[in-house]
Amino acid sequence: MSGRATSGREASGRAKEVERFDPATFEAKWRERWERDELYRARDDAPGPFYLLTMYPYTSGDVHIGHWYASTGPDVVARMHRMRGEHVMLPMGFDSFGLPAENAAIDRGIHPADWTNANIDRMRAQFRTMGASWDWSREVIASDPEFYRWTQWLFIQFFKAGLAYKAMAPVDWCPKDLVVLAREQVLGAERTCWRCGTPVVKRDLEQWFLRITRYADELLDFSQLDWPEPILLMQTNWIGRSEGAEIDFPLAPNGADTDAVAPIRVFTTRPDTIFGATFMVLAPEHPLVTQLTTDDGRAEVEAYVAAARRETEMERLSAERDRGGMFIGSYALNPLTEERIPIWIADYVLPGYGTGAIMGVPAHDERDFDFARRYELPIRYVVAPRGVEPDSSAAFVAHTDDEVLINSGAFTGMGAAEGIRAITAHIAERGQGGPAVSYKIRDWLVSRQRYWGAPIPIVYCDVHGPQPVPEAELPVLLPRDVDFAPTGVSPLQSHAGFIAATCPVGGEPARRETDTMDTFVDSSWYYLRYCSPRFESGPWDPEAMRHWMPVDLYTGGAEHAVLHLLYSRFFVKALRDMGHLEFDEPFVALRNQGQILGADHHRMSKSRGNVVNPDDLVARYGADTVRLFLLFIGPWDQGGPWSPTGIEGVSRFLTRVWNLAQAPVDELERSVPVPTVPGMPPFNPMTGEIPGSGGTSADALLAAIESGSRALQRVTHQTIAAVSEDYAALHFNTAIAKLMELTTAIARARDDGLAGTDVYQQAVDTLLLLLAPAAPHLTEELWERRGRPYSIHQQAWPVADEGLAAADLIELPVQVDGRLRDRLLVGPGTSEAEIERLALASARVQAHLDGRPPARVVHIPGRLVNVVTTR
Ligand SMILES: [Zn+2]
Ligand SMILES: [Zn+2]
Repeated sequence: MSGRATSGREASGRAKEVERFDPATFEAKWRERWERDELYRARDDAPGPFYLLTMYPYTSGDVHIGHWYASTGPDVVARMHRMRGEHVMLPMGFDSFGLPAENAAIDRGIHPADWTNANIDRMRAQFRTMGASWDWSREVIASDPEFYRWTQWLFIQFFKAGLAYKAMAPVDWCPKDLVVLAREQVLGAERTCWRCGTPVVKRDLEQWFLRITRYADELLDFSQLDWPEPILLMQTNWIGRSEGAEIDFPLAPNGADTDAVAPIRVFTTRPDTIFGATFMVLAPEHPLVTQLTTDDGRAEVEAYVAAARRETEMERLSAERDRGGMFIGSYALNPLTEERIPIWIADYVLPGYGTGAIMGVPAHDERDFDFARRYELPIRYVVAPRGVEPDSSAAFVAHTDDEVLINSGAFTGMGAAEGIRAITAHIAERGQGGPAVSYKIRDWLVSRQRYWGAPIPIVYCDVHGPQPVPEAELPVLLPRDVDFAPTGVSPLQSHAGFIAATCPVGGEPARRETDTMDTFVDSSWYYLRYCSPRFESGPWDPEAMRHWMPVDLYTGGAEHAVLHLLYSRFFVKALRDMGHLEFDEPFVALRNQGQILGADHHRMSKSRGNVVNPDDLVARYGADTVRLFLLFIGPWDQGGPWSPTGIEGVSRFLTRVWNLAQAPVDELERSVPVPTVPGMPPFNPMTGEIPGSGGTSADALLAAIESGSRALQRVTHQTIAAVSEDYAALHFNTAIAKLMELTTAIARARDDGLAGTDVYQQAVDTLLLLLAPAAPHLTEELWERRGRPYSIHQQAWPVADEGLAAADLIELPVQVDGRLRDRLLVGPGTSEAEIERLALASARVQAHLDGRPPARVVHIPGRLVNVVTTR
């Protein structure tokens, strides 16, 4: 601990200096005592439950300043709620499965479990130095068999409910990590791996999926959520719902052998333009391509399909890499015009969107327009503003209020909206399709061909197919002796003892699934386990679940907008429908913290050399100073740059609190007078003596003391109201600023000689109570030194007295024609109209008006009101 010593100014003139502020002498002591006393233990049977959750940290190594930032804010809220009498659960755990552990272990040549457990031990110790009010007794660790036993149990419930299934699928594959990625783990337009930044490629593999698409519509209902708007928008876009129609295009009876082929189904958001469909395009992967390709073009088509499959989606959608399309020799019939239209393939149509087939309407779609121009396909305008000739040089895609259908048979003349309805209905009547909704969201790919995850609890029997492992046999333990170096196949495939299993149906020899689960499966339910972390007869105790869930306030990084936060909502809805949960949403309120940047305003990184190490900071300044500075650095949802001078300032502030709060009263009594009020002689409030005052009116002095006392009382109660509000709104920086102002007011009152008064002592106590959530160690130490009962964190939260917080009444002279006739006493917030009304209603004013009507009222706010009768 360094010399964050007493500042000279605070102690000067004192008979005895207070002990120097040295957090190292008391911070650890209090943390140990709180833990021993189980101060933050959340009881399942106490009234007023409040579940406050922060995203459990990944076991990546050291606790960094970002962890501190993410943890301190919620801890303040938890502490305030506890002091308000609520029973808060603030649990803590570790997200400990996943690729980074495996990769780090491979790099270092140690086992992923050993690497992970060493990290957990270190991080736990580092987290403890924060003095946050976590209930460690509820700790949950994703890679602990006691936890993943229930992750596996949940997978089996999804499997039994038809929400987990296996399918061959083209999947995104990271060629560096040799692993399949979920769509959400493929980042940006360059489509890179979320972990290593390598561009992903496509591969066909048999994979496990969770059927999140079944909940697409309900996941768009945010009515129960108090979440940041940008997160809701990202989820909305991710789900990507669009309304339109599915339409069957029958095949024309020539070209390839098409007799046995079903019609081709397209999805379109513009069924009103069907009369303009002059060709159709299939994704190269469309299952009908092989059958519909005529022999003369087969070799070329197959080469095109193979090339398309090698490319990423982004490359296929990029205009620069446009490889055009290819006519495959067959024709379909436009179901409304009966026109023969050629069938093409083009790689800009993706197999995963809609039906993998589109109707080409070049007059009303830019991409189709370019395609038609290039291959000289007909372009027919079927929508246009009423009475306007279409401009044939471009697609008409803009919508106008007066647009109507043209060249559209019986539908010509209808408005576009009416056209959509009428044509969709017509198609449905003819049994050729009907209204449909399409989503961008895909089912969630959860299997990973890696080692460090929960084994998927399925066995394969040649007779009975895939079967869930009986629940009594869970967990399916991850064997330790596995060669986990990445080869592209699951490392567990090389472990004969793991693979050997018995069919739970017929007892035949069976083969165990060797894929493990995506870590986002763990994080989709870990918050449920916190409710009853040691419960052994299920993933949770239904009673405890009912008591705590849903989470009242969830905090974490905004980067989880569509991954973890969407999966968790899906999990809760699916488990509700299976009868395991009784609520619809996991997290009622969500708040995102910002990011702490380096002092150079860049993201902290080792290569920039701008990383600050919280362990060093704690050693130098103490935990409270680090906490307080992080709270003060800027709005919590925005973060801000680290500032070496800023943390010094916060350290000085806490030193000031230290000195103010513990200066013994008897010392103060002897130490005054300090003449600080201009024009006022020194005065000792304890004795009433006025040293050397000779002739000064005692009344005037007492009045000055009284008004100083009243001012301190007012600022105390104003601070209670403001800080309570700011903490609840997670506006920590403004709360700390107000606590600094209160500290200044207390110091001024002390210098004015108020130190012995009740109002003064209440102000100091209040300062400590309000500061306790932010600086828990310092306030506990000072609370004890002031002889108050342990623990400050178990005291009642101060309540602001509105009357005491209100500014005093203002006296306003009221004149009639410039002569003083009355005085009004008004509150500081009284409106101008109300003041004028009160002035005119005054009996004395009325008496002096003597029946004359007032010509106007002159009001100088805060100064006077003058009722003028002359014109
Ligand atoms: Zn990668
Ligand atoms: Zn069997």
